[in-house]
Amino acid sequence: METLAKLIKESNYTVVLTGAGVSTGSGIPDFRGPKGLWQQVDPMDALSTMAFYRDPKGFYDFYFHMLSEFEKAEPNKAHLAIAKLEEAGYVKAVITQNIDELHQRAGSKRVLEIHGTTFAGYCLECQKESPLLFSTTLPKCICGGLIRPKVVLFGDGMPETYLEAEEETHKADLVLVIGSSLAVSPACFLPLHAKKMAIINLEPTPYDDRAVSVSHKKAEDELPKLLQFLDLEGQKRQEA
Ligand code: NAD
Repeated sequence: METLAKLIKESNYTVVLTGAGVSTGSGIPDFRGPKGLWQQVDPMDALSTMAFYRDPKGFYDFYFHMLSEFEKAEPNKAHLAIAKLEEAGYVKAVITQNIDELHQRAGSKRVLEIHGTTFAGYCLECQKESPLLFSTTLPKCICGGLIRPKVVLFGDGMPETYLEAEEETHKADLVLVIGSSLAVSPACFLPLHAKKMAIINLEPTPYDDRAVSVSHKKAEDELPKLLQFLDLEGQKRQEA
């Protein structure tokens, strides 16, 4: 983390890219985790456009179970440290593949949700957006149309936010990848646009040999150490 702190100090534009691993410390399993949510279903099936259009009721039974698990979760030390890095001026944007809104709840301001969010939807008839709240019945718009989630489901294209994320990574001197297997396309290509990438991920990723710094430890243990090396004990970074 000392090396990473030095890299962050040297970088003029650092962007964070997070994946499911940043939220496992909050009790939300990643897709490759051994237990929990995804034990009952194959995520590729349960969270697909095909599942949604084939059987909306069955789709929403699982979806609202997932939503209620996300609602119960609290941001962990990794989310809080990322928010602090942004507050201190070291991080310009947080690009996340997560759909749990834990970065926003931890205080991150500039969050680019490239896979959408679990907590919003839009009407398939009139396109009106609305919050998605837990329900035991199918969510319907005031116009009567069925609401679909604003999550990027398997089978969907990428949203406009992805283009913004690409621009951010092109601008970046450093992309710090946290808790992502870097196996999900096209998000896994984002760090390649930056001058340098650093990785904190429990398991090896396909890009480890391209990274200037790699840690295979837990993000919620490593990031508080990073804050210490950056002398971030509450004070804001002085802008030059
Ligand atoms: P992934 O499941 O492919 O990989 C997660 C990675 O995180 C793994 O390589 C694992 O080794 C690592 N990891 C697990 N716990 C960690 C920890 N405490 N510290 C550091 N690393 C840790 O996740 P992905 O690459 O983000 O892609 C899967 C897709 O699933 C994404 O599109 C994401 O949107 C979605 N997803 C989201 C959530 C969520 O919103 N919390 C949860 C599961 C899956």
